[in-house]
Amino acid sequence: MAVVGSGPAGFYTASRVIQNAPSLKGKPSVHVDMFELLPAPFGLVRYGVAPDHPEVKNVEHKFTEMMDSDKFRFFGNVRIGDGGIPLDSLREHYDAVVLSYGAGHDRVLGIPGEDLHGVYSARSFVGWYNGHPDFLDLNPRLDGDTAVVIGQGNVALDVARILLTDVDVLRKTDITEYALEALSRSKIRKVHVVGRRGPLNVAFTSKELREMMTLPGVGFEPVDPTTLQSPELKDKRPLRRLMDLIAKGSKTPMSDTRKSWQLDFLRSPAEICASPANASHVGSIRYDINELKDNKAVKIGRTATQNTDLVFRSVGYKAEPITTSGLPFDQQKAIIPNDSGRIAQGIYTSGWVKRGPTGVIASTMYDAFETADRILYDYEERDTNSTIKPDILPLLKDIHYVTSSDWKEIDRVERERGSALGKEREKIASVRGMLALVGK
Ligand code: FAD
Ligand code: NAP
Repeated sequence: MAVVGSGPAGFYTASRVIQNAPSLKGKPSVHVDMFELLPAPFGLVRYGVAPDHPEVKNVEHKFTEMMDSDKFRFFGNVRIGDGGIPLDSLREHYDAVVLSYGAGHDRVLGIPGEDLHGVYSARSFVGWYNGHPDFLDLNPRLDGDTAVVIGQGNVALDVARILLTDVDVLRKTDITEYALEALSRSKIRKVHVVGRRGPLNVAFTSKELREMMTLPGVGFEPVDPTTLQSPELKDKRPLRRLMDLIAKGSKTPMSDTRKSWQLDFLRSPAEICASPANASHVGSIRYDINELKDNKAVKIGRTATQNTDLVFRSVGYKAEPITTSGLPFDQQKAIIPNDSGRIAQGIYTSGWVKRGPTGVIASTMYDAFETADRILYDYEERDTNSTIKPDILPLLKDIHYVTSSDWKEIDRVERERGSALGKEREKIASVRGMLALVGK
């Protein structure tokens, strides 16, 4: 079996198939080859999960065990599809191919001014502080006073928290040194987290909100308590808890602090406007004011303008099709249409590209298990006489691919560099740097 993508979806699909295949009587055991675009494995666990959430990254231990299995080979720095190994060639070498390549693009707002300097996608900012090779040179301008984050999901709170957290707290995490250095010079004092709907429609969760409310030295602008009440809360305990947390706010009084954040509701960005002092840089944002009708945001014909030095667009990630694959793709939902993970004979999907860019690692695990069970079901039902396939290695002869043992060496060096700085690891952020370390 080939797995495309080494995030949680890829690893959980692979481990479930390897674990459960031996119970299929009369079938040869299963071997998995995993292909990853980047030299380093683990997808968003390495490049998305916030550096101050180290406990979430513990799943990497289980994935590392998988990489040590004699039934598993890792091929990092190998792109499958457009500009890389064609998917059709891959399919000729395996009985089953699993597409678990995630959602590596952004949803955009589609409004004027989105390309001004000082407007960043949350994906690029998160990638930058987490050492993703594509965002090494982002160099976000943090020299203004105010930042606006559009969207009220957990990624928006990650961005706001990283902007407001004391750098001495971040220093002990695996955040990259260059990001620490830039954040230590940041002048951002105020972060607005802006939603197009109301408080009852926020997408973030209690644990993440509580963290924001307990950030040392960071105040929270109170929200009108009447907007936090609704008869529907009676039967919705998690939402009620969330509204209670907003109502309670932060223990740090606004009068005692220079840093604060606030939740703004019922505002849809209509235009990002240039600064009068610098025509290529953001200076303000104009919103359409909304009201809620059947839980949908509806413009009321009024606008409001807010000055800001930075805008982060945090309205979700998006998957793209492998255009040369000939496989179906649902452009509306940005997923590969599938039946419990099966796309067609011998080709499957799991994770964010299967079901869309929402859900935590645990939901991705259950989703991957569903796909694995479908693969095993098809395998059991099928005649396996035709399963002897050519090895993929000749096709990879011109690619500097990273193996499991190469990754161990990169991991060892990162930990060693981290330990010298009093942190878990210092990531090697460039592709060239990682490859050079293993002589490739
Ligand atoms: P990904 O993790 O994105 O993995 C996809 C992999 O495929 C990547 O490594 C990518 O490089 C690779 N790839 C892409 N294209 C190709 C190609 N053509 N060829 C080969 N490889 C390719 N969940 C939690 O439980 N706790 C958290 O704290 C948390 N924090 C998050 C923070 C952020 C900023 C984000 C965006 C998500 C967070 N999540 C968190 C959610 C969690 O990360 C996802 O549920 C999970 O990573 C989705 O897994 P996936 O394998 O589908 O995708
Ligand atoms: P998300 O949870 O889907 O939130 C997206 C936000 O963007 C919503 O508030 C949405 O509002 C808003 N939005 C979408 N389109 C918009 C538009 N055109 N204009 C204005 N606002 C718009 O996505 P996410 O924050 O990227 O998170 C992705 C997944 O990763 C989530 O499941 C999340 O829980 C998970 N994650 C978890 C953690 C954690 O566990 N700590 C951390 C980070 C991420 P509407 O509701 O109005 O559409």
